[in-house]
Parts: sequence; structure tokens; C-alpha cells
Amino acid sequence: MILDLERALRSMRAARTHVTGILITVALAACSPAADDGSDVIAAPEGAAEGEDTAFAEAMTYRTRVVMLGTGNPNADPERSGPAVAVVVDDQAFIFDAGPGVVRRAAKAARDLEIPALGAARLNRVFITHLHSDHTLGLPDILLSPWVLDRPDRLQVVGPPGIDAMMSHIVMAYEADIDRRINGLEPRDANRDSYIPDVVETEGGVVYEEGEVRIEAIPITHGDWSFSFAYKVTGPDRTIVISGDAAPSEPIVEACDGCDVLVHEVYSGERFVTRPPEWQAYHSVFHTSPEQLVDIATRAGAQKLVLYHQLYWGTDDAGLLAEMRSAGWDGPLQSAVDLGVY
Ligand SMILES: [Zn+2]
Ligand SMILES: [Zn+2]
Repeated sequence: MILDLERALRSMRAARTHVTGILITVALAACSPAADDGSDVIAAPEGAAEGEDTAFAEAMTYRTRVVMLGTGNPNADPERSGPAVAVVVDDQAFIFDAGPGVVRRAAKAARDLEIPALGAARLNRVFITHLHSDHTLGLPDILLSPWVLDRPDRLQVVGPPGIDAMMSHIVMAYEADIDRRINGLEPRDANRDSYIPDVVETEGGVVYEEGEVRIEAIPITHGDWSFSFAYKVTGPDRTIVISGDAAPSEPIVEACDGCDVLVHEVYSGERFVTRPPEWQAYHSVFHTSPEQLVDIATRAGAQKLVLYHQLYWGTDDAGLLAEMRSAGWDGPLQSAVDLGVY
């Protein structure tokens, strides 16, 4: 084997940090040219649902924005990529989960929404909520595609225990590709080692603090997973909480505490009753119904509620919004679409 895979794995191990609820500050690798703040841009994505234009125009006035790269779940919905949420602060994107399609959705946001921080070669920070495949199938993509596209720096990966082994296995799985790209004819001198991820495993706590941005991993309940996180992003002008996959979880209420945007998963309560009993048992301990979400968002004092990872089971966005309203939510509300900005 020409590629020294052992060298890469040694380097990963050296870079690895295990964290248990303690503060760590990760040095931000300077890599991104200054970008404009995008505030002079255009319109919501073509085909966007009702209310998206307003949400988009409002969100683009902030320095801290949520850009939905993928609102999906394990269902292979062609309109919804796998779960991936970008929080963009000025010229830096923080990606939460890497569902399938993440790099191409980001490239589309960079091009069509004029958000240069989401350009493929700029994707260098990803935070994983939990290790379910729908949230991690895009990890090889976000590790390797930007590398091939000349990302100058390594991918910084934060996630629960097990993420380090997952990243090591991804590097091993692609060793033949990595070998050809390094030792073949591709010019690769400028970023030869940028395929090696820097991985931080956490059990919760502050996982990033740099400049005006602070990111906290919040342990929550997602069925029988030992570790599953929501993330709280405190930016210069807004605070965002992203649930990840979650059964009703009190820590999300505490973390939000009047947050500007609560991005939360949901399933249709009306259609839940049509599911087979064994699936009802599963969903009731892994996920959240509209009634439960209204209770969470109300007690959390969320200023704006954005539904994602929607499980429709035959209903649609309008149906889910109606369920939320009839359950008592009367605040600002969106059922997110891919490439929606909130
Ligand atoms: Zn999921
Ligand atoms: Zn899950």
C-alpha cells in the first residue's frame, strides 16, 4: 500500500480530544476569504412554500442565519435531502448533521442564495447529533468532496462517543481513493493531508467558542441511544437551538430559554394513529408529536419555531402546520423546506 494509512490514523488519534462536559476552545483555522454578508440577495428558493419569502427576507437581515440543507429523514424523499442544518455566521458555516446530499445542497445554497460560506471548499466544521445513518451518511461526502475540491484545511468533526471510530473507518474505507489522489497524477501538494479529520468526542457541554460564536452540545432523549444531542448556537445577534432527533426533552426547553429560533423535529400526530402498533411504540420514545412540541416550544419561550425532519406519513406541510395551530402554538412558525433560510 503506497498510502501510509497508519500515518493518517495516527494523526487522527493525535488530534482527537475526548471531552466530558468541559469547556474546550478549538482554534479556528484561518481559511476563508472575507465574504459579503449576503444581505443584498434575491429571493427564496424556487418552489418554496408559502411564507418562505418573508422568512427568507427577515433571516437575511441577521448575521446569524439558519440555512436548511436537508430537512429529510430516512425516507428517500427526492425533495428533501438527509438532515443537515447550517448555521451561518458571517463567513463561517457550522453544519449540524451530515445527511446524504449535504455537499450538493450546500453548493446550491452558495450559488443560488449567494451564501459563499456554504461553498464546497469552505465546509470545514460539522457537528453530529447522533450516529443514526440518516444523519451521518453524508460524512464521507463532507470529508472527501471538499478535500478534492481544494479545501485547504482539515474537517473539524464534533460528535458523540463513537464518532471517532466512524471517521477512522471512513478514512479506511476510502484508502484506495485517497491513495490515488495523493500519489497519482492529481496536483495535491497544497492540501495533501486535508482528508484527515480532526475529531472531538463529547458527552455534552461547550464544544466551540471562538469570537462571537459559542456552541453547546445538549444531551437529550432519543429512544435508547446512549448519546444524542441537541445543539445550541449563540451567535452575535441570535441564539439558535437545533433539536436533532428527540423525544420530548426537558434540556431543550432549558437550552432554548427564549431563543430566537427553535429548529425541532416533529411527526404528524393525526397520522401517528394509523401506524402499526410496534412503530407507534418506536416513535413515541424516539420522536416528538405536535402536542408535545407545542408544550416544549411554549415553555421554552421560542421566538420562532421551525419544523424539520418532518414525518408526514401522508399529510403535508399545511397539515402539520394546522396540527401545530390546533395544538395551541400561535407564535411564528415554519415547516422547513430544503434551502429555506430562517
Ligand atoms: Zn433521523
Ligand atoms: Zn435518530
